[in-house]
Amino acid sequence: MKFFDPHVHMTSRTTDDYQAMADAGVVGLIEPAFWLGQPRTGVATFKDYYSSLIGWERFRSSQFGIKHYCTIGLNSREANNEPLAEQVMEILPLFIYKEGVVGVGEIGFDDQTAAEEKFYRAQLLLAKEASLPVQVHTPHRDKKRGTQRSMDIALDCGLPAGMVIIDHNNEETVQEVLERGFWAAFTIYPFTKMGNERMVEVVKKYGPDRIMINSAADWGISDPLAVPKTAALMKQHGINDEAIHLVTYKNAITAFGQSGQLNEADFTSAQQIDQSQKFEGNTVLRGGQQPRVDKDSLIIR
Ligand SMILES: [Zn+2]
Repeated sequence: MKFFDPHVHMTSRTTDDYQAMADAGVVGLIEPAFWLGQPRTGVATFKDYYSSLIGWERFRSSQFGIKHYCTIGLNSREANNEPLAEQVMEILPLFIYKEGVVGVGEIGFDDQTAAEEKFYRAQLLLAKEASLPVQVHTPHRDKKRGTQRSMDIALDCGLPAGMVIIDHNNEETVQEVLERGFWAAFTIYPFTKMGNERMVEVVKKYGPDRIMINSAADWGISDPLAVPKTAALMKQHGINDEAIHLVTYKNAITAFGQSGQLNEADFTSAQQIDQSQKFEGNTVLRGGQQPRVDKDSLIIR
């Protein structure tokens, strides 16, 4: 089976993760822009980060045969540094129209502050102007209210529900998100929150329409194989292949494909992996390394 992970922060992951994802059948992914675990101190680091998402990281992914897309946005936490956030808003239009940028994201609420709402609204208008889907991060605290507010504001800004992917859902939020016509994304977090046994039950209860699963793997404790593992678990629990295909591959492609920047043909045909390729003079290989070919070998040369 082929998989598509529509939310994974590969910048924070290793080449082993890329290899494991490719081996498990992940053929494409979306890397949303987010925060680095500590606050940035200037607009230049946002610029470099956005550039890396459409440059070096995309190249790195290609070296493992995985098609890399991204969403670009100002994350909710850093919206609270208003002077810096204003500067970031000015550079966003330089990035959201680039090739392979499939949406504005991840944006939304963290603490549900006034500053967060201000920059969430501004970015929704940017997405509307650019006809791009929006990838919405919903808050971990006071999630139900934060999710409702995120949807209300998106509609208020003139975004059709079908252009908005509401992320990090759980059993408390999913029904309303689906009923209102939004896409419902679920992050499978190890050890906490949304484990994949709960995800199986959600798909059994609500069916596969407009639901998508992601790993949101980043620099924290997370699992870049969450999508293929959940597919396997759903299969074990008797969910049919078509439903599994929709929630672990097709729905995300349909939703973000509305950007016009995501072409399934780019990853359905087998990609040639050539690890001797370079990106601005740099490769994933270290001095004298041979491109990795025998992935099953226990010998690490
Ligand atoms: Zn994220």
